[in-house]
Amino acid sequence: MSFTADCLLLLGATGDLAQRMLLPSLCALDADDLVDPELRIICTARSNYDTHQFRNFAREALEKYLPADRRGSVATFLNRLHYRPLDVTRPEGFSALAEELGEPHNGLAILLSTAPRLFEPTIRGLLQCGLTTEKVRIALEKPLGSDLESSREINDAVAAAFPESRIFRIDHYLGKETVQNLLTMRFGNLLFEPLWNAAHIDHVQITVAETVGLEGRVGFYDEAGALRDMVQNHMLQLLSLVAMEPPVSFDATAVRDEKVKVLRALRPVSAGETVTGQYRAGAIQGQAVPGYDEELGKDSDAETFVAIKAHVDNWRWKGVPFYLRTGKRLYKRTTEILVQFRPVPHSIFNGAKSEPNSLLIGIQPEENITLSLMAKLPGLDRNGISLRKVPLNIALADAFVGTRRRIAYERLLLDLIEGDQTLFVRRDEVEAQWKWIDQIRARWNEEARPPKPYTAGSWGPSAAIALAERDGVTWHE
Ligand code: NAP
Repeated sequence: MSFTADCLLLLGATGDLAQRMLLPSLCALDADDLVDPELRIICTARSNYDTHQFRNFAREALEKYLPADRRGSVATFLNRLHYRPLDVTRPEGFSALAEELGEPHNGLAILLSTAPRLFEPTIRGLLQCGLTTEKVRIALEKPLGSDLESSREINDAVAAAFPESRIFRIDHYLGKETVQNLLTMRFGNLLFEPLWNAAHIDHVQITVAETVGLEGRVGFYDEAGALRDMVQNHMLQLLSLVAMEPPVSFDATAVRDEKVKVLRALRPVSAGETVTGQYRAGAIQGQAVPGYDEELGKDSDAETFVAIKAHVDNWRWKGVPFYLRTGKRLYKRTTEILVQFRPVPHSIFNGAKSEPNSLLIGIQPEENITLSLMAKLPGLDRNGISLRKVPLNIALADAFVGTRRRIAYERLLLDLIEGDQTLFVRRDEVEAQWKWIDQIRARWNEEARPPKPYTAGSWGPSAAIALAERDGVTWHE
């Protein structure tokens, strides 16, 4: 049943994500009149605030995380917020919450921004107090489990209360403009699609590089490692958008049907197709930083870097490797996709040096699309034409001056309120992702190789460079 929610219930409203992303995004939507004036936002967490205290807490978060030019309507936004303390592990608290919410007029959207171990008790509580009717939908933050089995347990628990059509699994990468632009670029233009296959593409690189270390995520990250934290969700979503067949329309079923086919076509990795690493002390932009073990305060075998040579086993991508690389404390912060085309089949320019075209899609920090083309070097060419690689550069910020770039959660929260699942991850996608990841972890366990050390501020262990170079491929840097 389709409805626009007139009430949003935010669990985990005192957490880091709520402060940095959710409250600022809701405030920004409010400022632009994108949500109904009647929308109520009920916030809960364990902290013992009343509404007045929580509004002060939210104001501080907005002052910290919302750009100054967006703060004009903070006071009106704060009036939408109501707070009720709730420990979701104590079922008795849910009835009072249901009372506070009252009967949803149009509908209720619930967002669980809490640790996944709290999902099951939360669902039980919601079931028990009648907050799972067909006028209620639910959104879940990642991580959805730590392997296929635990992800199935979470999915089963949620499915016991909500049908798939009312479950919204968040992968915030899908809310990013440039990620959606991947689909516009591929399917809104005639130019690329005829070339978007193994006959014309040599390989694809996907890099998600961070300069930060553990930050506050000590326990979680050491359990998860880079593979589960980044590859299982964001990177596989990016890969599926690059590799998918054209969906018949931009709607939830059509898009997700095509993505899941790619995820199911991922070939189990073979020996030698992955490299893991862990950073040691080094320097990021001239600042000395400690090694992972030192930051953690104990020895650990968690990988803070992973590189993978992946293959999509279908007609379109036969023989085209997808090189994935992610890590912490790397040389610079960047998320990008490089599509490397094959060389021209024959050069007419008498031996002039020519390079194959490439398409670089920058996702963060800058949203750029750069197509590299060969052009004639200006001159009289008495010894024949010389070629030089030149970039055809579209900086999206410049192309759309005057249009505000929205953060991913603005888009996702609006879609959640309005009930559009296109940019949320379906259960079969999550499970196909975990299946592939579990196989990699099983191989690592068999091989029992510790992660290779790399210096903070570098591009990861040298073995990751070798992984690509032995195929004649250089990572884009
Ligand atoms: P966090 O800072 O640890 O916040 C957790 C929230 O859960 C707090 O509001 C906390 O409230 C509440 N909570 C804890 N135990 C509770 C209980 N028994 N009953 C009710 N509420 C309880 O975590 P976070 O960083 O905001 O992350 C939230 C979720 O988003 C996690 O699943 C995380 O993996 C995911 N996520 C976070 C980020 C990020 O950038 N932070 C990014 C992607 C995904 P009290 O402190 O008041 O008890």
